[in-house]
Amino acid sequence: MVSANDAINRLREGNKRFVSGIQNESNLTDAYRRQALLAGQDPFAVILGCSDSRVPAEIIFDQGLGDLFVIRVAGNIVAPSLIGSVEFAVEAFGVRLVVVLGHTKCGAVSAALSDLDRPTGRLSPNLRVIVDSIQPAISPLMEIRQDREALMHQAVRENIHASVKQLQNGSKILEEMIVESGLAVVGAEYSLETGEVEFFEDLSDAS
Ligand SMILES: [Zn+2]
Repeated sequence: MVSANDAINRLREGNKRFVSGIQNESNLTDAYRRQALLAGQDPFAVILGCSDSRVPAEIIFDQGLGDLFVIRVAGNIVAPSLIGSVEFAVEAFGVRLVVVLGHTKCGAVSAALSDLDRPTGRLSPNLRVIVDSIQPAISPLMEIRQDREALMHQAVRENIHASVKQLQNGSKILEEMIVESGLAVVGAEYSLETGEVEFFEDLSDAS
């Protein structure tokens, strides 16, 4: 089993390779690896990320087949089926690190902000669910006078923190594993501009 701390270090190293443009040649994505994985998967981290086409987890962390258990949904929101997916991964594969991965210029966060600013009533009921789940965390930011760019910057981060909290507190299984089994749920932001992932929590004291 890979500890939360080791898992985060693997992700950090992989992201450094991605940023430097020197991908790991030994990343296993070939037919031999596919065959080996038929016996079962053993991912070392769960990533709850945004569906944005510019933020594919395996590529930005330079990982191969079977390395990451990835859940993607617009705005990296938390909903029951997504919590269920995380529960499945930590229980079935012993994963000890869950990363909520948001990103700069997130369209879902931007849509949620615009809707707070000037509601149009034009969102479909299904899109409404996504926007509604983002807005509670970001609506207090509307009170602060700041430009749109600064507002977006803060809103993306607040949305990531909100999803982290919902995962930490929205599941009895995950709560118990955090207390008893060294499970960590952390937030991170991917920069579309630099390619770098910034992790918000420091796990260096955790085992
Ligand atoms: Zn996004």
